[in-house]
Amino acid sequence: MTSSATAAAPIAFIDLAAQRARIGKRIDDAVQAVLSSCRFINGPQVGELEEKLAAFAGSKYAVTCSSGTDALALILMAWGLKPGDAVFCPAFTFCATAEVVPWVGATPVFVDVKEDTFNMDPESLELAIAIAVEQGLTPKAVIPVDLFGQPADYDALLPIAEKHGLKVLCDTAQGFGGTWNNRRTGSIGDATATSFFPAKPLGAYGDGGAIFTDSEELATILKSLREHGQGVDKYQNVRIGMTARLDTVQAAVLLEKLAIFEEEIAARDVVAKRYNALLKDVATVPVIDPRATSVWAQYTLRLPPGVRDGLADALKADGVPTAVYYRLPMHLQPAYRHYPAAGAILPVCEALAEEVISLPMHAYLDAATQDRIVDAVRRGLGR
Ligand SMILES: *Cc1c(COP(=O)(O)O)cnc(C)c1O
Repeated sequence: MTSSATAAAPIAFIDLAAQRARIGKRIDDAVQAVLSSCRFINGPQVGELEEKLAAFAGSKYAVTCSSGTDALALILMAWGLKPGDAVFCPAFTFCATAEVVPWVGATPVFVDVKEDTFNMDPESLELAIAIAVEQGLTPKAVIPVDLFGQPADYDALLPIAEKHGLKVLCDTAQGFGGTWNNRRTGSIGDATATSFFPAKPLGAYGDGGAIFTDSEELATILKSLREHGQGVDKYQNVRIGMTARLDTVQAAVLLEKLAIFEEEIAARDVVAKRYNALLKDVATVPVIDPRATSVWAQYTLRLPPGVRDGLADALKADGVPTAVYYRLPMHLQPAYRHYPAAGAILPVCEALAEEVISLPMHAYLDAATQDRIVDAVRRGLGR
C-alpha cells in the first residue's frame, strides 16, 4: 500500500501477451481459417509449415509432430533402438531428453556438462561410453541438448559419435533458431528434435514438435510412425506407430510466428547482451561459444554456492519472477537414479543444480522493465 513499487506493472517471466499484442490478430485470423475449413487434422497448413521449417533450418526434411518429447521418441523408434542399447544424455536437462529412452527399452547413460556452457562435456561422454560397454550395453546413440538456447559443442561431439558408431540425435527443444559454425540447429547430426511448447522460443498455442533430417528414408518412416505406422495409405499398417501428428490449428499459429521468429531472435539477443553488460560484475553471466549463437530460451546466471535460494526469495518479494532449471539433475531423479552415469558423481551438473537461476527473458522485455530486474538482482546480492 505504501510500497514505492505500487505503480509498477507485474513482470512476466515469459510475456506471451506482448507477442499477441503484435501479431494476435494475424494469428486469430489464421486459426479462424482452420476452424472454417474444418480440416483439423492434416490440413494444408501442416505441409506448408514443414516446408518453411526445413528451409529455415537448412535441412532437407521437416516432419512435424505432437510434441518435442514425441519428436525424440519417434526418432528412437525409427532407428529401432532396443533393450541392451545405450543412449547417452546430459544429466543437466529437461527430463524428456532421457525419458524417451526407456520407452523403446534402451538404457539412458548420463553424461556431465561443461563448466562454461552447461552443454554436454565431450570428455565425460567418452567416459560414459566406456562405462556402458563395461556394463555390457551396446552404445547406439547420443542426444546432445542445446541447453538454454545455445548449441552443444558439435565440433567435439560429432567426431566422438563417429568413432564409436553412434547416431546423433540433437535435442534443440530450447535451441531451435540458434547456430553452430553458421549452421542452424536442425541441420546438424543425423536427426534433430524440437518442441513448440508455448514457452519455447518458437512456441505454439498448445503442444507441438518437429523433427529435422536430411535422410529421405528416415523422414518416410517418421511420417508413417506418427500415423499409426501407416503404409501406402491409412488402411495399411506396416509398423507399430502412434498418433503423434501436429494439428492444423497449431500449424497455422506457427506459420504466423515463424514469419517474425528471426526478428524475435535478434530482440532476445539484445536483451541477453544488455543483461550481460549490467550483471557481469555481480554474477557469472552466460558464456556463448564464439562458434555459436543462442536463441536464449533462458537467461541463466550462476552464483557462488549458498546464494541462489536467498536471491530467488528476495526477487520474489521485489515482484521479479525467476525459475531454477534444473534443481535436480537427471542422474539423481528418483525415476532415473538406477541408470548408469559417467561416474559416481557428475560434479558440474550437481554444482549447477545448486547455483543457477534464470531471469525473465523474452523478445518484448523493454529496457525499463529490465532495469527493474537488474536493480532487484543487484539489491538481492547486496551490490
Ligand atoms: C521442452 C523440452 C523437451 C520436450 O518438449 P515438449 O514439447 O514439452 O514435449 C525436450 N527436451 C528439452 C531439452 C526441452 O527443453
